[in-house]
Amino acid sequence: MPDDLINSFMTGPDERGRFGKFGGRFVSETLMPLILELERQYEHAKTDQSFWDEMHDLWTHYVGRPSPLYRCDRLTAHLGGATVYMKRDELNHTGAHKINNVLGQIILARRMGKTRIIAETGAGQHGVATATVCAKFGLSCVVYMGAHDVERQAPNVFRMRLLGAEVVPVTSGRGTLKDAMNDALRDWVTNVRDTFYCIGTVAGPHPYPAMVRDFQAIIGQEAKAQMQEAEGRLPDTIVAAIGGGSNAMGLFYPFLDDTDVRIIGVEAGGKGVTEEMAHCASLTGGRPGVLHGNRTYLLQDDDGQILEGYSISAGLDYPGIGPEHAWLHDIGRAEYVAVTDAEALEAFQLCCATEGIIPALEPCHALAHVMKIAPELPKEHIICMNMCGRGDKDIFTVAKALNVDMGAMA
Ligand SMILES: *Cc1c(COP(=O)(O)O)cnc(C)c1O
Repeated sequence: MPDDLINSFMTGPDERGRFGKFGGRFVSETLMPLILELERQYEHAKTDQSFWDEMHDLWTHYVGRPSPLYRCDRLTAHLGGATVYMKRDELNHTGAHKINNVLGQIILARRMGKTRIIAETGAGQHGVATATVCAKFGLSCVVYMGAHDVERQAPNVFRMRLLGAEVVPVTSGRGTLKDAMNDALRDWVTNVRDTFYCIGTVAGPHPYPAMVRDFQAIIGQEAKAQMQEAEGRLPDTIVAAIGGGSNAMGLFYPFLDDTDVRIIGVEAGGKGVTEEMAHCASLTGGRPGVLHGNRTYLLQDDDGQILEGYSISAGLDYPGIGPEHAWLHDIGRAEYVAVTDAEALEAFQLCCATEGIIPALEPCHALAHVMKIAPELPKEHIICMNMCGRGDKDIFTVAKALNVDMGAMA
C-alpha cells in the first residue's frame, strides 16, 4: 500500500465489501452472480472518464449542480457563536440529494444494456427521483412501496405515476420499507436479464454502499472547494442528517482524511431514544445485525426482529444505517447523535424565519444539532451542514404538529 494510504480512512471497503466488521454481501446464491456482475461493471465505469463526463454534464444541465455553499448570516447572528454555512443540495432538481445517486446508477444501467429499473422507496423521495430519471431516459420503472407507505405518501405516489412509473404496493410483512426492499430483491432475481436494481441509500449488499457514496461524494467535493474559495480553509465541523446515511456519507467522505475536521451525523430521535423505540436512531439506539444484504446497526427487538422505528420525518425511517457509518462510529472518526421531533420542528421554524429557506424535516435534524453546539463556539469556528432537501413536501406535517388548521387560514 502506498505510504499516504496507510492511514487513510478513504480506502474502504475491502475486497469482500467490508468496512471493518460491517457491510459485506449477505445475499442468496441466486443473487450472487448479479451482484458480482454489477461490481465488475461499476469498477470498470468508475475508472472510465467518459462515464464521469456524462455524469457531470447531467449534474450541470439537468440537476443544477454545483449547489451553492451559503453563509447563513442571520442564523449565525441569532445563535451567537460559530459561523454557519449550508451546502444547498435542496436546490437540486426534485428537491433533494437523491438524484445525485440515481443519475449515477441509471447511467451505469444504460451502459449495462438494462431497460427496466426497479427501486424500493419508503417516504417516496427515492422513488420520485428514480421515476424522474427513468422518464428522462425512456426506461421502464417499477417502484416497490409498502402498502402502509402508499397510503401515507399519496402525493409522492401520484408524482411517480405522473412520471410514468408503476408503483407496486407491498402487503407482505408489515407493509413498510423493509418489505419493499425484500420484494425489490426478489424481482431482481426473477428478471435478471433486463433489470437494474437502483438502491436509494448507502446500504444493500456490496458494491451498493460504496457506489452510492461515490455518487453522493460530489456534495463533499464541491463543499470542500467552495469553502476554500470562501474562507481559504476547511470547515472545523461538518454535520448531516442520517436516514440510511447517503447525504451524510456524500458530505463526509471527501473530508475523512482531514482529521482536524470534526464529523457529526444526526439520527432521528423521534419522541426520544428510549426502550419504546419511538425513534429511528439505528446507531444511537440499535444493535448490529444483518438486513438488506449487509451487516450494520439495526433497530431490532430482543428476538432480532427488525423494528419499524418512528420519526416525524418520513425520509429518516430506514431501520438501519449504512455500514460505512457503523465503521466510522466504531473507529471513532465520526460522532453520531440523535435529535428529537420537537427539536427538529424548532429548527424548521428558525430556518424559515432567519434565512428564508423552508427546509425538509430531515436536514432540520442536522440544523437542530447545529443550534445546540454553535452558541458554545467562537465566531472563527466554521460549521458546514448539509441542507439536503427542501420542505414543500413537509408543510402539512408541520402544520399538524403545530396545531395549525390549513382549512382555516382566512
Ligand atoms: C431520503 C432523504 C434523507 C435520508 O436519506 P439518507 O440516505 O440518509 O441521505 C434525508 N434527507 C432528505 C431530504 C431525503 O429525501
